[in-house]
Amino acid sequence: MPKRIDLYDTTLRDGTQGEQVSLSAEDKLRIAKKLDDFGIRYIEGGWPGSNPKDMRFFDMARKTSFNKSRLTAFGSTHRPRTRPEDDENIKALLKTEVQTVALFGKSWDLHTSQILAVSLDENLAMIHETITYLKKEGREVIYDAEHFFDGYKTNPAYALKTLKAAADGGADVIVLCDTNGGTMTEEIQKIIKEVQPHLTGPIGIHAHNDCGLALSNSLTAVRSGATMVQGTINGYGERCGNADLISVIGNLQLKMGYDSIAPEKSKQLTELSRYVSEVVNLPPLNQQPFVGKSAFAHKGGVHVNAILKNPTAYEHLHPDQVGNRRRVLVSDLSGKSNIEYKTQELGIKLGGNGFDSKKIVHEIKKLEDQGYQFDAAEGSLELLIKKVTGQFEEPFTLESFRVTIEKNRSGASTSQATIKISVGEDYEITAAEGDGPVNALDHALRKALTKFFPRIQEMGLVDFKVRVIGEGGGTASKVRVQIESRDEREIWSTIGVSENIIEASWQALVDSVQYKLSKALNGV
Ligand SMILES: [Zn+2]
Repeated sequence: MPKRIDLYDTTLRDGTQGEQVSLSAEDKLRIAKKLDDFGIRYIEGGWPGSNPKDMRFFDMARKTSFNKSRLTAFGSTHRPRTRPEDDENIKALLKTEVQTVALFGKSWDLHTSQILAVSLDENLAMIHETITYLKKEGREVIYDAEHFFDGYKTNPAYALKTLKAAADGGADVIVLCDTNGGTMTEEIQKIIKEVQPHLTGPIGIHAHNDCGLALSNSLTAVRSGATMVQGTINGYGERCGNADLISVIGNLQLKMGYDSIAPEKSKQLTELSRYVSEVVNLPPLNQQPFVGKSAFAHKGGVHVNAILKNPTAYEHLHPDQVGNRRRVLVSDLSGKSNIEYKTQELGIKLGGNGFDSKKIVHEIKKLEDQGYQFDAAEGSLELLIKKVTGQFEEPFTLESFRVTIEKNRSGASTSQATIKISVGEDYEITAAEGDGPVNALDHALRKALTKFFPRIQEMGLVDFKVRVIGEGGGTASKVRVQIESRDEREIWSTIGVSENIIEASWQALVDSVQYKLSKALNGV
C-alpha cells in the first residue's frame, strides 16, 4: 500500500495574499467546490477573524455540502492577557462551525519578543491554552508553527518547546512552516530528522518559494517523514508564492508512488490548474510543470523527429496522465517532421514528395525573419499552410478601407472606418464607428461580411496584444499584433506584422475572420 499523504490547500487564504490575486466570497466557494470534487483532503477557507468577506464565505459554505474535503478556518493563538474564550478572533473561528481549525503560533524567539512583544514563557502558555480550549470545543486542530525553521536555527531549544506546548495542548497535526521561504532543502531534511523524536503525532510542511525551493522542500519533508503538505494551486501566494500543489501532486502521485488523491484524478490536474487561474483571472503560466501549455510542446525539428518514433525520447511522462496534450510547434526552427505532424493534425494533405513541406518551411522562415511568430498563432499558421499548398480560396477580397480618428478640444476621441469588400461579383461598402481605429475597422468588416456570411456573428475578439519588435526605431519600429478570437467551439490566435499598427491589426483581423469562415464554409 502506498503511503498516504494529506493535502492541505490554502489557495483561498495564503494564495489570496499574492499580488493581483483577489477573490470574492462567491469565487472562493466555486474554487472550494472544485477542490472538493478533485479530492483535496483539507481546504482552508480563510481567516474569519480578520475580515468580513471570509466570514461571509463561511456563512455560505455552511449551507454547502462537501463530499471529500474538510473545510478549515485559520486563526492565531489568543491575544496576550486575554483568555481564549474572550478572544474575538477565537470566537470568530468557532462561529464558522467548521470541524477543523488551523491555528498559527510563534516558534521564533525573535518574533515572540520583538514582534508579538510577549515573554517567551507567555507565548508558550498562549499556544497551549488556545489549543486546549479548541480541543475542549471538539475541534480537530492543525497547528502551524510559523517561522519554525528560522526559529530552530537561532534557538532550537525554544523552537522545540513551542511544538511541545502545541502537542501537550492536544494538536492533531503539527505543521512546520518555512514562512520566509529562505531555508535550504538539506536544512529541511536535517531539522525534521532532529525534531521527529520529540513528537509522537503527525508532522506537516508549509513551504514558501522565495528561493525557488518550495516544491523541493515539500517533497524532501515528505521523504523525511511529513505526512501533510500545505500549498496552493498554481503556487499563488505572498511574495514568490507557496508550494504549487499541482506540482506537489504530480510528483507525489506519479513520480514517488505516494497516495495523495484518487489515482484517476491525476488526469484532471490540467483542468484544475486552468479552472483556478480562470477564476483568479490570471493568465495560465505556459511553462508550468505538468500542466502548462508548453509542458509537452516540441519545437526543434530533431526533437519532433524523435518523438514521432517514440515519445519517451523527449517526454518524462505521457501528457494524458495529467490531462495535458502534446503540441508540435512550427517556427523557423522547424524541420519537415514538424510540418508533417502539424498538417496531419489539421487534416491537410501534402503532395509533391516532400516538396510542399519544403515550401512551407521556406515561407515560415522568411516570415519569422520579418517578425512573425507562428508558434503563438496557430490560426494564422493553418491559413498559411493552406495558402502555400494551394488549398485556400479567399472568401472575400478587400477593395479598400479608410480609417479616421478625430480628437477635439474637449478631449473626446472618435474613430470611424469605411470599408469596401467584394465577394465574387458582389460589392459591399459599409461604415462603422468604434472605441478606437481597430475596433471601428473590426465593426465595419463584420457589418460588410454579415450579408454574405451570417455565421460571422458567432465569433468575438477575446484579446488584442501589441508588441514592438526590433530595437532603436522608436515609433517607426515594427509592431506585432496578436489577436485571440473565439466562438462557442474554440479559441484561435492570429498575427500581423508591419511598421503601421493599423496595417498589422488588419492582417491579424482578416486572418481571424478567414479562419472562422474557412471552418464555417466547411460546415464546422
Ligand atoms: Zn504561508
